Amino acid sequence: MDLPNIQNYLCPDEFENITNWGNDWSWLAGGTWLFSEPQPHLKVLVDIQRLGWSEIEVQGDYLIIGATCPLIKLLEYPWLAEWTAIDSLKSAVSALAASLKVINVATVGGNICLALSVGTLAPLMVTLGASYEIYNLQAESHQVAARDFQIGSRQTILQPGEILRRVLIPLPNLTWQVNYQRMSIAATDPALAIVVTAKTPQQIRCVIAASVVAPRLLEFESIEVLENQYISLLEKENFIEDARASANYRREMTAVLIKRSLQ
Ligand SMILES: Cc1cc2nc3c(=O)[nH]c(=O)nc-3n(C[C@H](O)[C@H](O)[C@H](O)COP(=O)(O)OP(=O)(O)OC[C@H]3O[C@@H](n4cnc5c(N)ncnc54)[C@H](O)[C@@H]3O)c2cc1C
Repeated sequence: MDLPNIQNYLCPDEFENITNWGNDWSWLAGGTWLFSEPQPHLKVLVDIQRLGWSEIEVQGDYLIIGATCPLIKLLEYPWLAEWTAIDSLKSAVSALAASLKVINVATVGGNICLALSVGTLAPLMVTLGASYEIYNLQAESHQVAARDFQIGSRQTILQPGEILRRVLIPLPNLTWQVNYQRMSIAATDPALAIVVTAKTPQQIRCVIAASVVAPRLLEFESIEVLENQYISLLEKENFIEDARASANYRREMTAVLIKRSLQ
C-alpha cells in the first residue's frame, strides 16, 4: 500500500552516513510489514537493503546471519549436514511459506525486530542460545541474548536509532536435536501456539511462543524433569486471551505441542 505521509526516503550505502534520527523515522528492510498497513506516525524511511548485510557465514565459533538476509535464503542455503538444528530453522521459515511473496522479500532482521507475538524466528533463536548484535548511530555495537531482546508484543529493547546488524548462533548449538512445533486454526492463519525444544548435552530447553506475548524459555535438567513439571509451569504463565482463542485454549495447545515435541 502507498504510505502518502512519507516525506523522505533515504537509501544509504554506508551505515556511517546515517547521523541523525527522529521519532517519525523507521528502518525499512523488506517492507512486507511496513507497506502492509497505514503508518501515520512515520515521515522518513531509511532503507537498509544497500548496506550489504545479507551474509550467511561462519566466523570463529559462530554462524552469522546478516539482518537483511531474506528468509528464502535460509531455505535455499547449502547447510552442513551435521547442523541438525537447521531443519527447525527451515520449519520456522516454512511456517510463513503460505505467502511465498512474503518469504522472498522479508528479512531475518525484519521478522525479529517486528517482534510479533506470533513471530516465527524469535522462539528458535532463543532456543538456540543466539545473540543479536546491535548498532547505535555512533556505530557502537553491543550484543544481547535473543532471550532478552523481545519484551512484549511489538516491543523490543531497541532504543530509537538502534538497529539489529546480525544474528550470531554458536556453532556447537547447531548440532543440538531441535524440534519446532506450531499450531494454528488454518495453515495460513497466525500461530496460536509455537513450541521449540532442544536437547543439549546438559539440559532440555523449551521455548513457548505465540500463545504468550514474547518467547519464554523454560529450562530442565532432563526430559523426565520436563515431563513432571511442564503442566504446573504452564499454569503460572500468562497466556494471551483474545477473539481468536482463550488463554485456556492456548495453554492446552502449548501443552499438546510440548508433548508432541517430546515424542
Ligand atoms: C500477510 C502477512 C502475514 C504474516 N504472518 C506472519 C506470521 O504468521 N508469523 C510471522 O513471524 N510473521 C508474519 N508476518 C510478518 C512478516 O514475517 C513480516 O512482514 C516480515 O518478517 C518483516 O520483514 P521485513 O524485512 O519485510 O520488515 P519491514 O516490513 O521492512 O520492517 C518491519 C519492522 O522491523 C523494523 N526493522 C526491520 N529490519 C530491522 C533491523 N535490522 N533493525 C531494527 N529494526 C528493523 C522496521 O523498522 C519495521 O518496524 C506476516 C506479514 C504479512 C504481510
